[in-house]
Amino acid sequence: MTRIDLSDPAAIRREGAAWPWRIAFLLFGVFLLIATHWPGSDQPSSGHESPDKLLHFLCFGGLAFLLWMTDWIRRFWIVSILAIGFTILDELTQSFFSINREASGADIAAGILGVLTASAWMSTFNSAEQLVTRQQDRRLHYILDEMLARPANWFLLGAAFALPMVLLFVVIYFLTWNFLGFSISNIALTIGVVAGMAVALGMLLRLAPPFIESVEVNHPCFDCGASLVDLELDEHGHGHCTSCGHPVHASQWHQLPAPNIPVSVLLSTDGPLGFACMLCYLVLAIIAGPLLLLASGHAGLATAIFYTGIGIAGAMFWQWYRIQRTVILNQGGDRCIRCSVDIAAIEAEGGIGHCPNCKAIFARSRSSVDDEQNSDRT
Ligand SMILES: [Zn+2]
Ligand SMILES: [Zn+2]
Repeated sequence: MTRIDLSDPAAIRREGAAWPWRIAFLLFGVFLLIATHWPGSDQPSSGHESPDKLLHFLCFGGLAFLLWMTDWIRRFWIVSILAIGFTILDELTQSFFSINREASGADIAAGILGVLTASAWMSTFNSAEQLVTRQQDRRLHYILDEMLARPANWFLLGAAFALPMVLLFVVIYFLTWNFLGFSISNIALTIGVVAGMAVALGMLLRLAPPFIESVEVNHPCFDCGASLVDLELDEHGHGHCTSCGHPVHASQWHQLPAPNIPVSVLLSTDGPLGFACMLCYLVLAIIAGPLLLLASGHAGLATAIFYTGIGIAGAMFWQWYRIQRTVILNQGGDRCIRCSVDIAAIEAEGGIGHCPNCKAIFARSRSSVDDEQNSDRT
């Protein structure tokens, strides 16, 4: 836990941005406690198979992610340990406090797999060292923070995720059960979750334009939110926020093009051994593990392992992308990110220039001040 310093505008803004996540975490935690301790049915199951392992995976992974976003705890591994502890306690208390509910080792395992997958993603969210790259990341965070500071946007995004998810799950689940006579609860829920995420992403892109425009017009400091439209920057585009003193760069209010990284370069980030380890892991987690569990009648756990495999491999690829992106962006002042043309001789007045070949915007910064301040979470 951190104490806020009321004389530091950056700390006040960070605190303000964390509050919606804290409310979401507390509400979701209470909802999860009630849902997992609700009295079970004493009727023998009707043959309907429920996707309860997958729900444990998603809910406890989601809870770990929300806890991390509250900013109460800065280290992701402490968040993981707490979330795993909560998963185990929550399951064990069910057999004491709830009627017709028994603690299940498989439920605990599915919950822990969800927490581990969320943790793999949290571990990739460390801040970049180079100022221009870091400010590009923080530009995105700032836009999301501003968007999520409005309760209406939480409801819109939540509904965009939940409605298609529940609708597709229920329709697919009952149609296959009633007309084909078999239960595909895990597949139905997976289709629902993927569709929900796609619709939520579409909603996010619909809500974003006014917030992106506000960054371009108001030139906010990403640490404290103060408008820096009138701030004088030096000839390289560097300056310091007049309100909180954190470094800013002229490029941070523009979206720089994202580099195109060939898959072969991405896969070789950790060398041949790293690639071999990744292959072995994928075979175990996505093919061998789920098939073995499926063969022994644990369809729910098989799905949870499969999700873990995809989720952790995705986090690994994302980390590789970030490493390669840093390499490319570090040469951003010499070579165009989009078309690779040599731009070392092109003037970048105030830290920003345009590629003469493809007109893409590029940023050039003096690296000496880049590591002067690194206020982002680690
Ligand atoms: Zn500031
Ligand atoms: Zn270019």
